[in-house]
Amino acid sequence: MNIFNNVNIPEVTDQQLSEIIAGRIISAQSVVIISHVNPDGDALGSSLALYHYLRKTGKSVSVVMPNQYPDFLKWLPGSDDIIIFDKKKSAATKALDEADLMFFLDFNTPGRVGKAEEIITGSQAFKIMIDHHPHPAEFADVIISDTLSSSTAELVFRFIESVGNPALVDNVSSTCIYAGMMSDTGSFNYNSSQPETYRVLAELLKSGIDKDYIYSMIYDNFTESRLRLLGYCLDRKMVVLPEFKTAYMSLSLEEKKRYNYIRGDSEGFVNYPLSVKGVIFVAFFMENDDHVKISFRSNGSFDTNAFAGNFDGGGHINASGGESKLSLQDTINKFVSLLPEYTLK
Ligand code: 5GP
Ligand code: MN
Repeated sequence: MNIFNNVNIPEVTDQQLSEIIAGRIISAQSVVIISHVNPDGDALGSSLALYHYLRKTGKSVSVVMPNQYPDFLKWLPGSDDIIIFDKKKSAATKALDEADLMFFLDFNTPGRVGKAEEIITGSQAFKIMIDHHPHPAEFADVIISDTLSSSTAELVFRFIESVGNPALVDNVSSTCIYAGMMSDTGSFNYNSSQPETYRVLAELLKSGIDKDYIYSMIYDNFTESRLRLLGYCLDRKMVVLPEFKTAYMSLSLEEKKRYNYIRGDSEGFVNYPLSVKGVIFVAFFMENDDHVKISFRSNGSFDTNAFAGNFDGGGHINASGGESKLSLQDTINKFVSLLPEYTLK
């Protein structure tokens, strides 16, 4: 199936482009795969899948993430090899400087790589973006963007089918791809209505992945205090605003400390209030040392990507994120004051 929906090299056929990309991969001496800040299951799954595949073709490959990924993704094969830019700046910079081929996975604008932005935009490497967020910025030589795709991980599989050798996608790469697809679709409950997604899943299952194991490693692997924190949020912190069909929850630094919060513990919390009848828009505010991180989710046609623009953020129609430098309470006040401007139906 064609994946070249939006290509930055004019006047070439898909076949020619596929050959150009295959040629670039063959001639590359040093490949870097980089994804977005606060990497999630799709960022890690898609990057590690491509990493394992390219290594099987004999390439020298590094995976760089702007900052640390959550503990619940540590089991993903290859995650120990990832160079965290925030922690190992010189190793990450060296890998990026030496790269003659770069893959940008699961993000659509260079600002999403945090402090690595200048290095990637200034690099002379051949750059390939593979992503499913709307409105990709033109900062790569080849842009492969399919906003209907469940996940970047799915696109990586289709990319390998188009330009590479899918026979080299083994159980390890397939596990990473499945983890990415599952993460970005809430276990195939949203963003997963394209038949193509299930064709890819069938191929992954044929390579022998254990899908129940992958589910369990991601969703049944948390600490006891994390589950208690969820209970606390739902019971004590959920605010429902029926007049706006909206609900939100928040966590302060003090509350995080009280529940021994570790990175990733609040993953997925934002979704819960969407199950309240009548609620179609939800937000989750989390206080960090120097900013408030916000997650937005919606059911149906309410565009969280547009709404996230009020908080320096973006994402997809039904899932977006943003940031605020205001205090936690002022951020929430700003959020509530914006709601009347939007038609939530
Ligand atoms: P989450 O709420 O899980 O952090 O993010 C949900 C979606 O929004 C993901 O697709 C993520 O890539 C995107 N996203 C999260 N935070 C930001 C942000 O600050 N800026 C932009 N442009 N996208 C974000
Ligand atoms: Mn994604």
